[in-house]
Amino acid sequence: MPEKGTGILSRLESEPVFVLTSDQDWAPAWASKTLLDIANDHEIPLHVFRTNACPVLDVSVRLGSSTNGWHPNFGSGSSHGSSPREVVQHLQMAFPSCRTSRSHRFIESTEAWQQLRRAGIIADSQFATLMAKAIRPLRHWTGIVRIPIFLEDDVFFEYWPDELPLAEISRRLFSPGLKVFNFHPTFVGCNAPSRTFYDSTREKIFGSLEPAKGVTWQRRGTRDVLLELLDLIRSRGAAFEKFDDIAALADHDLDNPSPNLKTNDHMGDVR
Ligand SMILES: [Zn+2]
Repeated sequence: MPEKGTGILSRLESEPVFVLTSDQDWAPAWASKTLLDIANDHEIPLHVFRTNACPVLDVSVRLGSSTNGWHPNFGSGSSHGSSPREVVQHLQMAFPSCRTSRSHRFIESTEAWQQLRRAGIIADSQFATLMAKAIRPLRHWTGIVRIPIFLEDDVFFEYWPDELPLAEISRRLFSPGLKVFNFHPTFVGCNAPSRTFYDSTREKIFGSLEPAKGVTWQRRGTRDVLLELLDLIRSRGAAFEKFDDIAALADHDLDNPSPNLKTNDHMGDVR
């Protein structure tokens, strides 16, 4: 029998599907502009999980050149709020109408999932793999569609600092499955080649209006890796797709046995 639905699940069994995402992480506007300019120059849809207002990103969303999800900070001392409910309410006010979320530092809990789902989130993206093959979305019990990450920039430089060998990515790049990338504005803007370099410069980055002396790596770094990657994918005739579109297609096609949530805040906790 032919598959009923959009066909996204059978596509993922036979081909790679490329998606570019980013965690804003309170990046200075000049760093976000660097990432946005790369995406725009390559005509690639960029989905940014947002932490806070930013003139560059806010304008790009209004112009339709990037899209927003939430980047809630559920950690202690969070500027978003002191409980999952407060954090989600804060993001609802700051970035209304978002349907996707990726938590800062991937912090998650039953209460956080429930608050996000009730706030209209249909998909998250916070299972980070190291270039896993055959990634496909899964339905969480809350109804949220979980879309794993293929590769993050900081995971890449954690494993291969300074060297950043593109061959490690390219040999896994064109296998079937989801290929969601996460490049952070700060790492791209500073062209960070390693955690060591970033840690040595981070005090001069946040809150700055322009890159301070020494914060931008002058040799090959994360920005170069991103550019090489985009060129490689384009050279094979493949295109990037919108995160919101993939989330909506998966939400449509994945089996959904969950009725609407009518639970108390702590359902699922075992105490
Ligand atoms: Zn983060």
